[in-house]
Amino acid sequence: MKRNKAVSIFDTLIIGGGYLGLLSGIALAKLGLKTAVLEKGSFDSMAQSHSPCRLFAISQGSCKIIKQHLGLDLLSFGQKINHIRVMEFNTDAHLDFDPKDLHLSSFGIMIEESKLHAMLLLEARKQEGLTLIDGCKIHDVMNTEDFAEITTEKGIYKADLALVCDGKNSLVRSLLGIETHTKSYNQIGIVCDITHKLSHHGIAIEKFIPQGPFAILPKEGGHESSIVWTLETKLAHTLLALDEDSQFALLKERFGDHLGKIKIKSKLKGYPLELKYTTQYSNGRFYLVGDALHAIHPIAGQGLNLSVRDFDVLVKAVSESMSQGLNIGANYNILKYFKSRHFDNQVMMECTTVLNTLFANNIHAIKCARSIGLDLVNNIPALKKIFMLYASGQ
Ligand SMILES: Cc1cc2nc3c(=O)[nH]c(=O)nc-3n(C[C@H](O)[C@H](O)[C@H](O)COP(=O)(O)OP(=O)(O)OC[C@H]3O[C@@H](n4cnc5c(N)ncnc54)[C@H](O)[C@@H]3O)c2cc1C
Repeated sequence: MKRNKAVSIFDTLIIGGGYLGLLSGIALAKLGLKTAVLEKGSFDSMAQSHSPCRLFAISQGSCKIIKQHLGLDLLSFGQKINHIRVMEFNTDAHLDFDPKDLHLSSFGIMIEESKLHAMLLLEARKQEGLTLIDGCKIHDVMNTEDFAEITTEKGIYKADLALVCDGKNSLVRSLLGIETHTKSYNQIGIVCDITHKLSHHGIAIEKFIPQGPFAILPKEGGHESSIVWTLETKLAHTLLALDEDSQFALLKERFGDHLGKIKIKSKLKGYPLELKYTTQYSNGRFYLVGDALHAIHPIAGQGLNLSVRDFDVLVKAVSESMSQGLNIGANYNILKYFKSRHFDNQVMMECTTVLNTLFANNIHAIKCARSIGLDLVNNIPALKKIFMLYASGQ
């Protein structure tokens, strides 16, 4: 019975307490807006350390944006990315990226998703004007003349503006009737943690091997790395069904011996990969942010970074409206948001899809072109710089 429920009024509501939800909640509360984050799961269990845990590459550019809005300096946490090497398996073809060529000390950091979540949660709990509500089941959403209204099991919430940050399979996006495009890559990203004898020195490696791209990502401490092996779905299920010794043998062969003796530290975990996006950035007072707007292929580690750039534009637009005494949920903000972000988002979706086609391909002609391409880019500084600027989010 909707009308018997308690009604709470906020300036802004955030649906989903993942990375974008917490970032947005903290930043908007810092602007002086009374804000609530509604999360369906439990904040504490999301922030709990687990293995395997996805490792996120957060670029220098994203760290700068986060510091600007939250005052949180992510560059002093996690593992610095000191070097990136892209290579063709079992050949000499490779591409080296050095942040010093951009006068940077690193490309950014690698951080475990649970650690990132725990840090954001800590900041959110300290933030005045921010209410965190978890275990919150959403029943319905609607735009009224003056408010974005969300009906949940716990009560009705109203605000001038609502940010939809409930991830790739967003319920709120469907409740709002926003059209979504989906392209399955027919791939699974297999993630696991590996320990090794020698230090990785902060070097991230992407190997192009016949079955699919194999990333070795450096974790804090020097002697642990996270693997992301992108495989065609059927092959991935076969790998996941093998016994641990057979899995280890396959991983060891692909990992190589450059870091000495290795051991698998965790079980293997699979993430089905698909491109999911919409070009409708809003519906009334509900604005989409993060994977709810665009979930892309993780081949270049750019999903979260792309959303951090969206978040930057949106928070600045809201701040500008406030300083001009305008209503934060009104249409001009969404125009700014769409105009500033649509091109970058489309380009990144296209690029990651093309990269995946190029690098998850074992056709001989493509393999040859890829090897030539790697050497070519390695020897053309201007071209190499473009890739590095993207990797560092400059
Ligand atoms: C294998 C893999 C590796 C990746 N590596 C990188 C990387 O290195 N760098 C990078 O930039 N990106 C990376 N990404 C992408 C990154 O994971 C996503 O872009 C990021 O998690 C999106 O954050 P989000 O807050 O939008 O969504 P999510 O992290 O999915 O958070 C959504 C939140 O909403 C909550 N929620 C869902 N439904 C509801 C509801 N109905 N009501 C309330 N709450 C709800 C969920 O519980 C969750 O807390 C990777 C992705 C994959 C699959």
